[in-house]
Amino acid sequence: MTPKARHPASATHPGEPGQPGTSGGVRGRLNWLRAGVMGANDGVVSTAGLVVGVAGATTDQGSIAIAGVSGLVSGAISMAAGEYLSTSTQRDSELAMLDTERRELAEQPEAERDELAGLLVERGMSEEVAREAAEQMMARDPLAAHARVELGIDPDDITNPWAAAFASAISFVTGAALPLLVILLAPDDTRVLITVLSVLVALAITGFTSATLGYAPRPRAVVRNVVGGALAMGITYAIGSALGTQV
Ligand SMILES: [Zn+2]
Repeated sequence: MTPKARHPASATHPGEPGQPGTSGGVRGRLNWLRAGVMGANDGVVSTAGLVVGVAGATTDQGSIAIAGVSGLVSGAISMAAGEYLSTSTQRDSELAMLDTERRELAEQPEAERDELAGLLVERGMSEEVAREAAEQMMARDPLAAHARVELGIDPDDITNPWAAAFASAISFVTGAALPLLVILLAPDDTRVLITVLSVLVALAITGFTSATLGYAPRPRAVVRNVVGGALAMGITYAIGSALGTQV
């Protein structure tokens, strides 16, 4: 997972101002939820583009089903693999940083305490209070204190790559199932229209939800998401129609 770029599920944002009324734990769960919604969104858009494109070329339900199911499976695998890879990388780097920190704490506890106090001063504490706070934090759980304040990592909350990969695949499949089922169940002559409309409604919902979870303006997110999906289906339908008439 490249948390800052794509799926913010396991991202730690040490420098980011906290949202009102949320602790890191709540924000972590919201990030997971939001990553799930975005994964479902990916599933909706990519599968809708695929099946609508094939439906532009042929009315054969079997062909549409094969294309849709293949897209669903390959999309889920590729999402899971990408998620596994980037989460593993992030986990490795977090564990390596924790190792370094553990060693520094063992070798030079005095310097580490001063460092922690210095960081607390940077965050707005007076020298005196910072030294006292550093003292107390180090007495309790020195590694956790340094991980949180210095590295922005919660040592009890390192993301498991398998869990992240699984969650990612599940959310993609959930989204992908919608256009696939709709296009296979709709009557022949209104198949594409019904699929397009239900996909646009679904994208409005995922856009709204992800904006809400991310404290972003909702109308903009909804419009962006719906327009993006409409473009994807419009383009693949045009390509499918053009190729279909040539065969
Ligand atoms: Zn340290």
